[in-house]
Amino acid sequence: MAKSKADLQKDRDNYYQHLTESRAAHAAGDCLRSLDCAARCLDYIDGMMRYERKYEDKEFLSIEAIDVILNEAPFFLHYQLLDRVEEILESKRLIEKHTSADLDQLLSEARQVMQNAYRLWDHVERNPGVRQDLLEETLGWTQDAWQRLSLRWSELELLERTPEGETYRLHIRDPFRESTLAKCPTCGVVAKATKHVFLQERTCPKCKRQVLFVLVPDNKISANKE
Ligand SMILES: [Zn+2]
Repeated sequence: MAKSKADLQKDRDNYYQHLTESRAAHAAGDCLRSLDCAARCLDYIDGMMRYERKYEDKEFLSIEAIDVILNEAPFFLHYQLLDRVEEILESKRLIEKHTSADLDQLLSEARQVMQNAYRLWDHVERNPGVRQDLLEETLGWTQDAWQRLSLRWSELELLERTPEGETYRLHIRDPFRESTLAKCPTCGVVAKATKHVFLQERTCPKCKRQVLFVLVPDNKISANKE
């Protein structure tokens, strides 16, 4: 059954409410919360677009909430969120159809970034002090992309970058720590776990579902209690 104008308007309002929260969290430097709020937009995108196309004659270059997710989720290894975007794009074909950006293409690029993020973590953990300028030679992909990834991880305080000549030596932050913090993407519980929790599915201690935990930078822990 088609949604009424009032229903579509409600979807639009919900979309912008969560988007506004996402922007505010981003501005406050809490990227993980910004990502959570962008995720809450997903269910309302279809209604928002229908409303704005029909009643405001609007055309869409891209969808901000999806942009936020595709840009940021890979850095947090937030596998589940990229799956959610894929699900939405598949079930709501109008989103892709009425957006100029090639969302399927951007999604597959985001998956590639995330796959390489896993590889970087593993590589730096096995080879502490590895040189950033040799990543392309060792691991493939492109040097620019490795640089962006390691810069972002150093901003999130997950990776230590020590300048050396024209490049950097990379270390996982605090390598002697036995456990680190990770968050369940389903129920949001933050757990202490060994680092390898990132690399395989675990049973969440709270919601008991099989999940891949999401990276939580130490300095962002207080903001993630939902
Ligand atoms: Zn859970």
